[in-house]
Amino acid sequence: MSTFQDLGLNEDLLRAITDLGFEKPSEVQAKAIPLLLEEDKDLVALAQTGTGKTAAFGFPMLQKIDVDSRTTQGLILSPTRELCLQITNELKLYGKYCKGLNVTAIYGGASISDQARSVKRGAQIIVATPGRMKDMISRNMVDISKIQYSVLDEADEMLNMGFKEDITDILSHTPDDKSTWLFSATMPREVASIAKNFMYDPIEITVGNKNESTNQVSHEYYLVNARDRYQALKRLSDANPEIFSVVFCRTKRDTQKVAENLIEDGYNAGALHGDLSQNQRDLVMKSFRNRQIQTLVATDVAARGIDVDNITHVIHYQLPDEPEIYTHRSGRTGRAGKTGISMAIVSKSEVRKIKSIERIIKKQFEKKEIPSGSDIVEVQLMALANKIHTTEINHEIDKHLESINELFADTEKDELIKKFFSVEFNRFFNYYQKSKDLGVVQSRDSDRDGGRDYGRSSNDTRYFINIGSKDGFDWMKMKDFLKEQLELGRDDVFKVDVKDSFSFFNTENELKEKILAFFTDFKHNGRFVNVEVSENRGGGSRGGRSGGRGRGGNDRRSGGGSRRRDDKPRGDRRSSDRGDRRSNDSRGDRRSSGSGNRSDRRRSDDNRSDRRSSDRRSESNGSGSDRPRRSRRRD
Ligand code: ADP
Ligand code: MG
Repeated sequence: MSTFQDLGLNEDLLRAITDLGFEKPSEVQAKAIPLLLEEDKDLVALAQTGTGKTAAFGFPMLQKIDVDSRTTQGLILSPTRELCLQITNELKLYGKYCKGLNVTAIYGGASISDQARSVKRGAQIIVATPGRMKDMISRNMVDISKIQYSVLDEADEMLNMGFKEDITDILSHTPDDKSTWLFSATMPREVASIAKNFMYDPIEITVGNKNESTNQVSHEYYLVNARDRYQALKRLSDANPEIFSVVFCRTKRDTQKVAENLIEDGYNAGALHGDLSQNQRDLVMKSFRNRQIQTLVATDVAARGIDVDNITHVIHYQLPDEPEIYTHRSGRTGRAGKTGISMAIVSKSEVRKIKSIERIIKKQFEKKEIPSGSDIVEVQLMALANKIHTTEINHEIDKHLESINELFADTEKDELIKKFFSVEFNRFFNYYQKSKDLGVVQSRDSDRDGGRDYGRSSNDTRYFINIGSKDGFDWMKMKDFLKEQLELGRDDVFKVDVKDSFSFFNTENELKEKILAFFTDFKHNGRFVNVEVSENRGGGSRGGRSGGRGRGGNDRRSGGGSRRRDDKPRGDRRSSDRGDRRSNDSRGDRRSSGSGNRSDRRRSDDNRSDRRSSDRRSESNGSGSDRPRRSRRRD
């Protein structure tokens, strides 16, 4: 395979590449960079999001322009302000050793005269959104008559957004003999016609199959009643304690509403859509990038091309109308060699869309059940246990240890552990313990009215195992691993559910002894692997619908950038968790959706005006003491 040196890049760029930690060129870079460096040709490159297109055009452009000149030589058009800024920042990083380089971003919503001034200072490269660019051309604020290189980035999206005329107009102000490089994830007819009309005998390169989504992403769908969408979203989040996600909605209104509801329910969420001011959008993106926001709720347009590392899940609150858009959405995760999960929440009427998406992405969706309350309770408890287990001790505590010890002098270790966990854990337990399941009822299910499906009713056993995606597993790898280690048959392991630092799986009851015996003394990568029987059957049982409230906290009303409760210093966090649930509930009673009188509870969580339900969640049985049975202990 080629290296960046092989591609013909100069020393300044190679140094920057080393600083960035890029080890080898991505496919689109390996194909495009030598071509573009060698001669001044037009190029059409089809590549998915996340394949490294910015560097594919950025490096050649940086190498070819003359940084000693103050003339604008390169113009990059991109569909949104966010992308525009992202590209500008990337180019500045790539060109950090190119002395005299000046890259300027031009986009709507910010001071046009500031931007004009920045251009005048001698911008060799302008990165622009079409609307603002056209505006500035007509006001003589930029001169692009000496452009040598123009890039149309995310061309399909620019055309989707109706920028065709603006682009045509802008290009008419550039010289005929410039080179044009067009980058696009898909090749609809409109893009082909731009290529035909504005480009001269372009070289075409394609990375991966056209319109195929990346391999790193697995696709799942969850069938729910349309009115349970929001509940389903919360459960998918709660079942993945380490989630860092983008939730896509179809309209600005839904986007805003879902984000607001999440924030009110105690999640660290933020909205990104076109009705927000530029300032608000910047703030949201900043908070998302540094992870103060854990769930970004966005419209397709606003989130296009956004490159944030390590997004674990893309959730489709509604499916898009165009299957292509699905590809763009799910491309937000599974980037840079990481795996990601794309989850679609669908109602019955949308199931057919899944089929057409499958045809386009040439991949199958896995149909899954929304996690049951008891699944979530277990996941959250074990995530907490894992977190405590791996937490480094803060020795600031030492000086208070004496008084703490005094207080707990008469408390047994077991009791102390239970109390300790209950502090954090009761809110999940109380919230979910009586919740119904969300799946769409299928008639053959006998337990559909069961609701509280705690015991194992069938012949399988569910296990907890303390390895997960952090250890390099996805569900398939976990299944293979168990099959190989235990010499099991193809279908012996099922309902594998891999979380960040631990997982669950099921087997028939007969295999229980064998499995537990095998893992009494087993190491993986030098670490003891611990397997325990879990209380749940797993896979989300079916039933009616759920009531229920998210994280149950009331202290998180500060809006967009609020931090997740988990990250809060303890003292702060406890204020809402401390014993007095009654007062919490009365402050937040609009969100309580109790276990009683279900018919009264019409869509209590979907419809905000309906939230004044007076019944309260039952608080009995809240100790959580019968949660996952710690069957054996290894020391
Ligand atoms: P695209 O425009 O195709 O969606 P980007 O250009 O935004 O992709 O790149 C996606 C991410 O991958 C960026 O964070 C970028 O810094 C990183 N990246 C690009 N090229 C490489 C490479 N060769 N090695 C490692 N990371 C890379
Ligand atoms: Mg890009």
